[in-house]
Amino acid sequence: MNLKAFTFNSFGVNGFVLSNDSGDAILIDPSAGSEQEEQALARYIETNHLTVRHLLNTHLHLDHVLGNAFVAKTYGVQPEAHEEDAFMLDLQEEQSEMFGLPLREPSPALGNYLAEGDTVEIDGIKLQVIHVAGHSPGGIAFFCKNPGEVNGQKNVPPLLFPGDIIFAGSRGRSDLFGGDDHALVTGIKSKLLTLPKETVVFPGHGPMTTIGDESRWY
Ligand SMILES: [Zn+2]
Ligand SMILES: [Zn+2]
Repeated sequence: MNLKAFTFNSFGVNGFVLSNDSGDAILIDPSAGSEQEEQALARYIETNHLTVRHLLNTHLHLDHVLGNAFVAKTYGVQPEAHEEDAFMLDLQEEQSEMFGLPLREPSPALGNYLAEGDTVEIDGIKLQVIHVAGHSPGGIAFFCKNPGEVNGQKNVPPLLFPGDIIFAGSRGRSDLFGGDDHALVTGIKSKLLTLPKETVVFPGHGPMTTIGDESRWY
């Protein structure tokens, strides 16, 4: 697969484009917050002749869904996320005020619910859905067990896209909309730290890490 990361909007959200050799693409939190950022995303998609098949959200805090309206409109896909976070799409104005993040156009409703154990798949790329509540009720991580060749590199270890569940050296805050630190820690320990140690983690904010490195903190 090809993996491209973008860091978007004033909250520095890491968004990802995963694509296969046929040009099918999965977008994870492509949270473009301005026209320039939308154009940067569109340019990458056009230049690489990609067809967007899925628009995935790790969770529905506003900083992660700012690009949804643009992506949905431009590529004809609907956002997919966990049902327990869906209520936050009704609170986009409130979140915009609370976070001080301008809302240019609200995200459309979810077109598909993703739950624990589901998989999202295009040819050659299979993502497993892992539900870890606590940063938000419906927070999910996407786990790619066998990424194969990534950006021309062979024998790449498993990849994890956990949104704001876990960061390099810390975890997500639990003081927002149904957050719960106990549930978060329990979920991280039982569902993420049990993944292979060499798994490369691409958090929703900040630098990459590995499961082995994060295990030290728990
Ligand atoms: Zn968040
Ligand atoms: Zn975030």
